Amino acid sequence: MLSQYADLCAAHEEALVLFQVGDFYEAFCEAAETVARVCEVTLTERSDSTGDYPMAGVPIENAAPYLESLLDAGYRVAIGDQIEDAEQASGLVDRAITEVITPGTVVEDDLLDAGTTNYVAAVAAAVDADAAADGASPRIGLAAVDVSTGECLVTAGDADAITEELNRVSPAELIVGPGAPEFDPADADHGWTAHEYDPDAFDRRAAVERLEPYLGAPDHRFDDDAELRAAGAVLAYAEYTQGDDGPLSYVTRIRRYDPRDRLRLGAAAQRSLELFENRGLGASDTLFDVLDETSCALGRRCLERWLRRPLVDAEAIRSRHDAVGELVDRTLVREGVADALAAAYDLERLVGRISRGRADARDLRSLHATLAVVPELKATLGGVADRYSEKAGADTPRTDHLRGVRDRLDELVVVRELIDEAIATNPPPEITEGGVIREGFDDDLDALRSTEREGREWVAELEASERERTGIDSLSVGHNQVHGYYIEVTDANIDLVPDDYRRRQTLKNSERYYTPELKSREEEIVGAAERADALEYELFVDVRDRVAAETERLLELADALAELDALCGLAAVAVAGDYVRPTIVDEPDAGVEIEGARHPVVERSTESFVPNDADLPRGSVAVITGPNMSGKSTYMRSVALVVVLAQTGSFVPAQAASLPVFDRLFTRVGASDDIAGGQSTFMREMSELTEILHDAGPDSLVLLDEVGRGTATTDGRAIARAAVEFLHDQLEATALFATHYHGLTDLATEHNRVFNRHFTATREDGDVTFLHRIVPGASSSSYGVEVAELAGVPAPVVERARRLLGEETDGSDGLTERNDERGKGVDTPDDPADASLREFLAEEDGEPERIENDDARLGEGGETGSRADSSGVNEGATDPDLAAALREIDLAQTTPIEALNALHGLQSRLDDDG
Ligand code: ADP
Ligand code: MG
Repeated sequence: MLSQYADLCAAHEEALVLFQVGDFYEAFCEAAETVARVCEVTLTERSDSTGDYPMAGVPIENAAPYLESLLDAGYRVAIGDQIEDAEQASGLVDRAITEVITPGTVVEDDLLDAGTTNYVAAVAAAVDADAAADGASPRIGLAAVDVSTGECLVTAGDADAITEELNRVSPAELIVGPGAPEFDPADADHGWTAHEYDPDAFDRRAAVERLEPYLGAPDHRFDDDAELRAAGAVLAYAEYTQGDDGPLSYVTRIRRYDPRDRLRLGAAAQRSLELFENRGLGASDTLFDVLDETSCALGRRCLERWLRRPLVDAEAIRSRHDAVGELVDRTLVREGVADALAAAYDLERLVGRISRGRADARDLRSLHATLAVVPELKATLGGVADRYSEKAGADTPRTDHLRGVRDRLDELVVVRELIDEAIATNPPPEITEGGVIREGFDDDLDALRSTEREGREWVAELEASERERTGIDSLSVGHNQVHGYYIEVTDANIDLVPDDYRRRQTLKNSERYYTPELKSREEEIVGAAERADALEYELFVDVRDRVAAETERLLELADALAELDALCGLAAVAVAGDYVRPTIVDEPDAGVEIEGARHPVVERSTESFVPNDADLPRGSVAVITGPNMSGKSTYMRSVALVVVLAQTGSFVPAQAASLPVFDRLFTRVGASDDIAGGQSTFMREMSELTEILHDAGPDSLVLLDEVGRGTATTDGRAIARAAVEFLHDQLEATALFATHYHGLTDLATEHNRVFNRHFTATREDGDVTFLHRIVPGASSSSYGVEVAELAGVPAPVVERARRLLGEETDGSDGLTERNDERGKGVDTPDDPADASLREFLAEEDGEPERIENDDARLGEGGETGSRADSSGVNEGATDPDLAAALREIDLAQTTPIEALNALHGLQSRLDDDG
């Protein structure tokens, strides 16, 4: 046995071989030590003619958790199954590798997360001598297969585009061809396992041969060498992991796509918008969680694909909105469809198992149950429309989109009926032990089963008839595995045993007998049962093959069900979350106009979420200032999420929205807000900024959140300013820029498409309350000390900080900054750059008394007044007249010129006073 094991190991060097021995998967020698360590099972010794060696095993019945540990620990596991019946084998049972389980190619349901796709991907470089000579970056092909469903995607692009695409596909495993660059997962914690694979598999000719069974004339279908090589390699790898017995029949569709056909969301954007992962406190609070109201795994995966790749075609977006809108309006249809879909099984994976020849009778029954949903769905979609039909003149869905989906709902009646006639309604998990084929399906089988049944009935009656014949009341008829049927008589009655009884077995107080007739009946029963089981298996496999022949149609149905479910889910979210349909304006100068935008995730965990408007003309930059914790980041993200949701086809969390179609979305979240480890955060911040400044354009939406925070104030501010200027002047991207450097607000003076917005706060009884409301203009300070106080920093520390702050603003540093700003002549209408917190707050709660209290309190601090000192308004602030005059200015109604005049007036009053 050991040499057989060693042979398999040698043939699968890259994997850990597990060897079926009865009910266990065993590993020997070195591998045994690994298994024992990783799976935490006992290491034992095995001795045979070749000597003693270590052995460790896991039960086959319950192998999943052990396999998972091995995969997690980075191993590939080759399963060496017994390929002949142990009872029939003469000598050593033959074994072969039937499957290699790798992180990207697991097909066992136990190891798969139902709602997510599990890709194995390959990247290959095109070998193009001309391009290489030009120094052009090589074209990289990317192919990904979900081995459990047969979905195969192929694309190509330059290294950057492919990196981005890889982050989106987020494969469980990546194989890298010769010459392809290394792809570091941007997100180290959730990256894929990358490894090299047989370079021959990436060869052009090998790829063409490999692809031929999947699609005719592969070299014509793939004009791109890189795509061809990647597709060939990924299928070679997938075939290898499935035991290398030829093409994978369930991979019927190889889809080429161009990433540029989708809204491009880099890894940074996906991460910072928390689309699929939230690495903060509420780890499960992601956009996907909010959005996922689907009823089945098919729909869930479809929605995931949509959200990873939002659309960029205005018509396609509107078409999805149409369908979602119809389902929003037609509550009964929506609920009916959702109910029906809840009974659907994971059709893609079922079909995968069926066409791989791995499906059992239960799987076929699940397929039947899923097909049975289809007529119901069609009736629901069309049927309820009958109510409208008199007016609308149609018994079909009202929108083209939903009608299209309904028309794709293929009932596959023949398959459904075949399964129903052939497969028992509640079959056992084994397909070799009978009970899977229904009565009436096959005459031969029925005859065998009735022979078996009659035999058993005869035996069942034997006890009574033999008691009567022999007069032994305690006589019993029984059965055991070893001896088969017997008649048992206690020793006391042995004298009454008739002549035709033959002794079978002697027990302590009784004897067991058989009669020639019992024996022949038994042979008949056993023979019929065995032949019936074998026939059932044959019939089952035949039914399974006939179903497998419909793989393509079944997968198309799966697509339609998935889409319907995703649309229904989006409609349910829209209804429950009070979302609106956005208007998509497909014009080059269309900007973002959102009324009452909400953050779909934050609003769920916040009692009273404050909606905010967003009015961003195309190509403008909104500089958003405000105290820490006032809502800047949340606001920016809610705008971006509205855009992402709209292009996904969803309604959006707002009162109204009019949006352009963006083709790329970038985000950069300042280092201090980004808890990701690894690379120096500032370095990372700058490399992400680099990417944005290289790639953004007029159709991009850019979010910069506290850029430049990762370094000293002066550099940070300089970098941030330069970046905004570049975005505005050179790239003409539409951007939101949140910063606590309020010194940057004067950008608005110098650039016509830059404008200021800020967040406000109020103070009551000494507590700062954030209003989370965005208003025009710039804010003046970051109010760090107030936030510290709010957070519960002990009073002496807060007081001390306040004093230090006062000293500092007295000192040259603070003065420089302030004078700087004044020198530049800030002219935003209500720029309170010169205002102290007191005034800022006064503006909000407008109660003179409280302000005076604040004054008194701040006064106690001694030097605190000096913050206002530096602004030169200090004397005025204590002057009630001046304060009242300031307060009277209606900032929302003031133009920049009026504001300047007003300031000038106030200043001259000060001068007069002085
Ligand atoms: P900033 O970026 O200005 O420091 P955040 O956007 O991180 O502030 O917001 C801080 C907290 O304030 C959030 O965690 C959220 O709980 C709350 N918040 C933000 N915006 C709103 C809003 N519009 N309505 C209600 N609460 C909000
Ligand atoms: Mg923030």
